[in-house]
Amino acid sequence: MQNTEIAIIGGGLTGLTAAYRLSKTGAKVTVFEKSSNLGGLAGGFQINGTSLEKAYHHIFRTDKEIINLTKELKIDKKLKWHESSIGLYYNKKLYPFVTPVELLKFDQLGLVDKFRLGLVAVYLQKSKNYKDLINIPAADWMEKWCGKRAYKVIWEPLLKGKFHNYYKKVSMAWLWARINTRGNSKEKGEQTEKLGYFDGGFEIISKALEKEIKKHGGKIILNSNIEKIKEDRNGKVKIKIEGKEMSFDKVIASIPSHVLGKLIDAKKYKKYIEKLNSINYLGAITVVFSSFQSLSKYYWHNINDIKSPFLAFLQHTNLVDKSNYKNEEVYYLGTYLPHEHKYFKASEEEIYKDFFDYLKNIFPDFDRNKITSKYVFKLANAQHVVDTKYVNKIPDYETPIKNLYLANFSQIFPEDRGTNFAVREGNKISKIIQNP
Ligand SMILES: Cc1cc2nc3c(=O)[nH]c(=O)nc-3n(C[C@H](O)[C@H](O)[C@H](O)COP(=O)(O)OP(=O)(O)OC[C@H]3O[C@@H](n4cnc5c(N)ncnc54)[C@H](O)[C@@H]3O)c2cc1C
Repeated sequence: MQNTEIAIIGGGLTGLTAAYRLSKTGAKVTVFEKSSNLGGLAGGFQINGTSLEKAYHHIFRTDKEIINLTKELKIDKKLKWHESSIGLYYNKKLYPFVTPVELLKFDQLGLVDKFRLGLVAVYLQKSKNYKDLINIPAADWMEKWCGKRAYKVIWEPLLKGKFHNYYKKVSMAWLWARINTRGNSKEKGEQTEKLGYFDGGFEIISKALEKEIKKHGGKIILNSNIEKIKEDRNGKVKIKIEGKEMSFDKVIASIPSHVLGKLIDAKKYKKYIEKLNSINYLGAITVVFSSFQSLSKYYWHNINDIKSPFLAFLQHTNLVDKSNYKNEEVYYLGTYLPHEHKYFKASEEEIYKDFFDYLKNIFPDFDRNKITSKYVFKLANAQHVVDTKYVNKIPDYETPIKNLYLANFSQIFPEDRGTNFAVREGNKISKIIQNP
């Protein structure tokens, strides 16, 4: 690809991986990132002197693409595996919820329900056949096989919390992939689940990629919001930024599908844009705070109450040692929401109030005065809705504009989107570009 001029729109892990691979071939790569940081959804901010993700992140043992990339970038020593622990908040009580013994002790379900729940989990972990599940709604499948009560207590709040009005449409293949990945994420001989986290946060991957891209002559331009994309003469592609046009031999858009739809000619590409817009995206709100107070003994907490403003509560420092954060505890509260939800317009104070008021229900000792720093993050396109018709919606890597390519997490199926698959998509698109 010597001297081929390539623009990559989006400095998340998909775009950066593609930029890294292509810059190594001798292509002249420029990454345009609209925000002031690299990393996209896995991007970080500084808390107590350490970079932390705006949205909680960890990886699984099965995440081979990102693990291999860290080896290649020689940052694999920074990847540490930590023992995970999960709690479930239901009916005003917090339960441990990982091992079969913990499931047996869960007093909100009868023995038969618990047995069915356990059996279904084992089946989904062992089964490789997700294709038969594609057209079946996860809600229906889980209700049928786990039983009405177990579905209402365990699965419905999780599906509702994650997908809101879309929850009844979500494909069972998507849920299969989540359970299957998790169930197989143990090394030989490991009794408990271990989760991967990078010393210094996930930022070290984008930083290492940035360094390599620059080493191979690539450019990274932050605060550069691409406003338009169109065909140019001789098969080139033009992109517009702050009113100025630039021409490239090839362009990769590593941005959400509907965002690409807004950048190309609405009349000329009406059908294609309709397809891109058929994928529904949800945003996410996270509240991150540090405190000297320890609230829980678990890392991850599923909040199975639809009245809760957040779906998950994490004591991050129960996974990663608090010495990384000047000996303070670090917490996340997170939820996925439709774009029109009031929280996307609400002030930070309004969000803190709702989230912290609810947190006090779970932990009556929770003391806001002990909070040492707090942050709200609003992420616009955090999760797409993988419904039962999803396979027909997946956009191709090639677009109707010659030499304009699309690579984003809406192409990942049946696995859930994640940093591992962002790396996989980046690897894939760079190969496609080299061998069109
Ligand atoms: C709450 C939450 C929790 C998560 N937890 C995990 C986890 O535990 N483990 C895990 O592996 N993954 C997790 N993920 C998923 C993971 O972060 C993403 O799958 C991955 O980072 C996606 O990378 P990407 O490059 O495809 O997309 P993005 O990160 O969305 O990158 C796209 C980039 O394009 C930029 N952009 C958009 N429009 C333009 C434009 N017009 N011009 C220029 N730039 C533009 C954006 O600013 C962004 O930086 C989580 C995500 C969320 C939201």
